[in-house]
Amino acid sequence: MLIESYNLEIEVADHSAEVFEYEAIAHLPVDIREALPYLNATFKNGTYFTDGPVFSWRLDDHKVGFWHDRIAADHLDTREQAKEVIDHLVKLVNDVWARRSEIEPDTVTHENLQPLELYRLLPKTNCKVCGENTCFNFALKLAAGMVEFQQCGPILGDAKYGDQLKQLESLIVLKRPLL
Ligand code: SF4
Repeated sequence: MLIESYNLEIEVADHSAEVFEYEAIAHLPVDIREALPYLNATFKNGTYFTDGPVFSWRLDDHKVGFWHDRIAADHLDTREQAKEVIDHLVKLVNDVWARRSEIEPDTVTHENLQPLELYRLLPKTNCKVCGENTCFNFALKLAAGMVEFQQCGPILGDAKYGDQLKQLESLIVLKRPLL
């Protein structure tokens, strides 16, 4: 296991009448910089920067950063949630590190996918086959790497969407090959 322990720091990030948010930082006793290209290869729509290096990613509503000596997440409602999210992120790093022999590390800074650009290519029927209520919700999740475009039944199954399918493939698959 790469990360066996960490020191958790939780701070109030935003405090007003309407908002009370925490951010959390796990200070690591080990250097995880070698794991960052494996995270970049595994988690779609994250961004790897060689300066740092740092891998920036999004988990649900949380902006997440992985540095060689720490992991940070924001937009946390409670201290308990902060601990849960950090535990989850540490587990993700450990899982990816354990599978590193099966993963081609990636040190390229990929352009982020834009939800509107993806939405433009979807059928816009809101048929819900993918499990989302609308094509736009699907596009949001697609951009965040939370779903695969293959979950859209019409785009795969109807020849009239053939051109859109090719464009989606070139946007998603060629830029960031699926594992
Ligand atoms: S399956 Fe495709 S067309 Fe149907 S709602 Fe989902 S994204 Fe839209």
